[in-house]
Amino acid sequence: MSNREVTLHTTVPVYDTAEVVVIGGGPAGTAAAVSAARNGRKTILLEHSAQLGGMGTLGNVSVFMGIGNVTGIYREFISEFLPEALPDTHHVSIWPQYSPFELRHYLNGKLEKEGVDVYYHASVVAAIKQGDRVTGVVANTREGLKAFEGAVFIDCTGDSRVAAEAGVPLRSGRDEDGLTQPMTLMFMMQDTGKPARQYLPEDGYRYEDVSELPQGRRLYWEKTGDGTLLVNMTRVRGNGAKIRDVNFAEKESLRQAFSVANYLQRNGFENYILSHVAGQVGVRETNQIVGLYTLTEEDVTGGRRFDDVVAQTNYEIDIHNPTGGASTDERHVSGYDIPYRCMVPVGVEGLIVAGRCISATHVAMSSMRVQATCYALGQAAGNAASLAVETGSSVADISIPALHERLAAQGVRFQK
Ligand SMILES: Cc1cc2nc3c(=O)[nH]c(=O)nc-3n(C[C@H](O)[C@H](O)[C@H](O)COP(=O)(O)OP(=O)(O)OC[C@H]3O[C@@H](n4cnc5c(N)ncnc54)[C@H](O)[C@@H]3O)c2cc1C
Repeated sequence: MSNREVTLHTTVPVYDTAEVVVIGGGPAGTAAAVSAARNGRKTILLEHSAQLGGMGTLGNVSVFMGIGNVTGIYREFISEFLPEALPDTHHVSIWPQYSPFELRHYLNGKLEKEGVDVYYHASVVAAIKQGDRVTGVVANTREGLKAFEGAVFIDCTGDSRVAAEAGVPLRSGRDEDGLTQPMTLMFMMQDTGKPARQYLPEDGYRYEDVSELPQGRRLYWEKTGDGTLLVNMTRVRGNGAKIRDVNFAEKESLRQAFSVANYLQRNGFENYILSHVAGQVGVRETNQIVGLYTLTEEDVTGGRRFDDVVAQTNYEIDIHNPTGGASTDERHVSGYDIPYRCMVPVGVEGLIVAGRCISATHVAMSSMRVQATCYALGQAAGNAASLAVETGSSVADISIPALHERLAAQGVRFQK
């Protein structure tokens, strides 16, 4: 990287204004926007890509990990999008595989029905502040830079991008060396019912044994019953919020994807073709905000409960080796609470952060990061933002009993 700098002075037109502005349309962002809109707040959602669903569609992470509950907006989405997977009660785990294309389409329609104004291809590049308060964001759009103003902003970018632009302190990766979980390019294969053409690019790897595979294991799902195989077997070291790491990962993970598919074609999946490769490498971990509370490994392993609970999960500690090595640290977790304060950044007003980039240590994050939990955090953030708008209070000072009432009214059930 060069040490030279340039200074940019520019005037940006305000394109739209809302009471709640959500940035990032992944699990956290879609749930945040729907819940804010249901509180009657004018809500807009700015999404960098062409689709909603985040890693669950863009990254083709098309299986929901079980977290010990199916409640709130996540339950509602399941009831509408995957009704066959809907359990009778709120406090069970489900692990359904789904079509990422169908989820993408479902979310487009859902957010439209809920009255959320979604801006696709709107990538936030700067935060506007008055004093400590975020009052707007600037997005790169198909028509150039545009500003979006609001009363409360919810950063659901996964990377804490808005928080970073607003000056919130961040932490990243392991305490000892800052290494984050590696990236994985997800892909799908399809049973064609007859021997398929095998393909290995010239610069591919000819894996002969499981131990040579990037994760040292076979990890895939074939639950949909239509011959779709969802494969999570590539692995590239690096931080998905770093330019050079992502440049390398996009090329290396595709080389691995072809190579793993070729290995599978020679080892049990002779009739399968490579049918879909995610449009971008999947990013597990980048930046965490420093919030009013930081979720720790001890909270997760000790089953800690909090008065300001906003989400509950028993998903395991699940750390893909940050050095890129072929091991995964998986540890059973019996269940714990995530407090609201993990979503409230220090030092900046008018901003809530939801999803995988909340205030959590590397180990705690490895458990709370899965999609269902991010839906729950987003739902809580949308309600909290609405309360702050309605009462004029700071996001840190909203009433927790009032937040719990709103969540209950929207179908959230916590386990005592
Ligand atoms: C390879 C891989 C496998 C995984 N496996 C599973 C699994 O099997 N099951 C499971 O439940 N979870 C799994 N996860 C975890 C889960 O997918 C993510 O942790 C979860 O999607 C995080 O949700 P999120 O809303 O916080 O962020 P994301 O899903 O990352 O969504 C963030 C959104 O913000 C947008 N965005 C980013 N920057 C900007 C910006 N500047 N302006 C506007 N928009 C922006 C992005 O385009 C994206 O749509 C996996 C993750 C990966 C990477």
